Amino acid sequence: MNELSDCPNCNALFVKTQFRIVCQECFLVEEKHFETVYYFLRKRGNKSVALKEITGGRLK
Ligand SMILES: [Zn+2]
Repeated sequence: MNELSDCPNCNALFVKTQFRIVCQECFLVEEKHFETVYYFLRKRGNKSVALKEITGGRLK
């Protein structure tokens, strides 16, 4: 069931679904970030170092 919720990233009001836990804007940013990270992982091929960097970058 969908419900109105505050975006945990930017506090914008958006419709929360089981697939979307942040607003549209943040979702697109996250998606782009994920693509960048994915590309980075494939390019570097060094998972342990990359994962540490991802964790550090995503947690505030
Ligand atoms: Zn947001």
